[in-house]
Amino acid sequence: MADFQLFIDGEYVDARSGDTFATYDPGTGTKIGDVAKAGVEDAERAIAAARKAFDEGPWPKMSGKERAGYLRKVAELIGTKAEELATMEARDSGGTIKKAMFADVPGAQGAFEWFAQCAETEPDEVELPGSDFPPSQNLVRYEPHGVCTGIIPWNFPFIMAAWKFGPALAAGNTSVIKPASFTSVTALMLGQIFQEAELPPGVANVIAGPGGTAGEVLASHPMVDKTAFTGSTEVGRRIMQLASGTVKPVTLELGGKSANIVLDDADLDIAAAAVLFGTFFHNGQVCESGTRALVQRGIYDEFVGLLVERAGKLVIGNQLDYATDLGPLVSRGQVETVERYVKLGRDEVGEPVCGGEKPKVADDLDAEAFYQPTIFAGVPNSSKIAQEEIFGPVLCVIPFDTDEEAVAIANDSIYGLGGGVQSRDLERARRVADGMRTGTVWINDYHMINPQRPFGGYKQSGIGRELGVQGFNIYRQVKHIHTNPSTSRDGYVHFSALGDI
Ligand code: NAD
Repeated sequence: MADFQLFIDGEYVDARSGDTFATYDPGTGTKIGDVAKAGVEDAERAIAAARKAFDEGPWPKMSGKERAGYLRKVAELIGTKAEELATMEARDSGGTIKKAMFADVPGAQGAFEWFAQCAETEPDEVELPGSDFPPSQNLVRYEPHGVCTGIIPWNFPFIMAAWKFGPALAAGNTSVIKPASFTSVTALMLGQIFQEAELPPGVANVIAGPGGTAGEVLASHPMVDKTAFTGSTEVGRRIMQLASGTVKPVTLELGGKSANIVLDDADLDIAAAAVLFGTFFHNGQVCESGTRALVQRGIYDEFVGLLVERAGKLVIGNQLDYATDLGPLVSRGQVETVERYVKLGRDEVGEPVCGGEKPKVADDLDAEAFYQPTIFAGVPNSSKIAQEEIFGPVLCVIPFDTDEEAVAIANDSIYGLGGGVQSRDLERARRVADGMRTGTVWINDYHMINPQRPFGGYKQSGIGRELGVQGFNIYRQVKHIHTNPSTSRDGYVHFSALGDI
């Protein structure tokens, strides 16, 4: 029996093949346990359970208020297990315990609460203006899609699972989610929470396993009505292809290379903190990280000095220690990707102004899994390190002269996910924010994602929105019902458009 089993049809089960894969704490390299490895057959089993729960079970027929009751219970149970969940999230992903306690667990809890509220307050039916001639009464009815699948990445596994399950279930759908193989455990732990909240079997299923097999089934299976994916732009393109076979609606949350614009009237103390927080939080393994800092030339040298001084103070170490600011990256492979980009940066723009190496860490840690916060200054926006998503602790600082130039540089990217503007002049900051082609802009702030506010990307950063009312409605189909109330042929003169019938 695997230490962490699949959650299908309300029960924990092994993969049909009996296969497992090991999951590790990347900080120490110690094994956490064996995870059941779902194959095609297990993915199909989970989809069949969700299908049955949708077609024959009570979930889609319940009122929004009833479903909200279950989701509030899920949120409450997450709260009671906060420490256990946060510790496992930190061990399995390498994210710090601070991040897990202050962002991951409350973020997931807040998402379930918000979507419970949407289920209660968003109307199921809206009456439209009718017409007198030909007479009609018209209404729009919102209905669940059916079976919704979700495929999620390794950087925020627990929150991402909540962002997929929360709106899908609140809107009356049933669901199957697949977390990334590096970080499957906390999403699988949700199964126990769903059992304790007494969700009907099959409503919410979690399978762990490889994207290329189990994941492809979730995105392509004819019994699935909608699919949502968070991950790299490259795999996002593949998901669109897979979903196109049965014309499934897709929601995609993909990569980014977001610009954080520092105007010359910014409070430099706050702006420097916003740039460092925006880049190095979770080692830059955040899709909307502000990895391009665009800094106005008049303050450029002073500002770069502040960034370097403060980046050097970040504490690197064991992610389970509350004093740690930066833990390991998710894997040695991710460190190798960062090293490749830092080498490229050295070739393209020269020595970084700080970092650029693996740090020295305590003997009980895996030194190959850590990387120093690294800053390249004077980076041309056309360089590869400014254009490609690194997904590690690497910041590119880019100088500019005018506000218009800053907007043009910010928009010169295939991505458009996050972004920031740092300025004391809020009108000026708004003009800059309005010009940015991106899904979220934080003025004098960064990373402030909230379940009540929509989140998603322009351009190759994605399709659709998660969170907010928009993120709820994307999980509902729209049906228009037209009723002709006439009882005499006078109300049907339009039939004569065909002939005398
Ligand atoms: P990834 O694209 O490699 O994998 C994401 C998920 O897709 C995993 O569960 C994986 O198993 C699965 N997968 C891989 N190939 C598949 C296939 N052919 N069919 C179906 N599923 C498949 O991404 P990652 O490395 O886990 O995460 C990092 C990426 O995610 C970065 O690009 C980051 O920007 C992005 N991301 C975006 C957001 C957002 O909201 N926009 C949030 C977090 C992460």
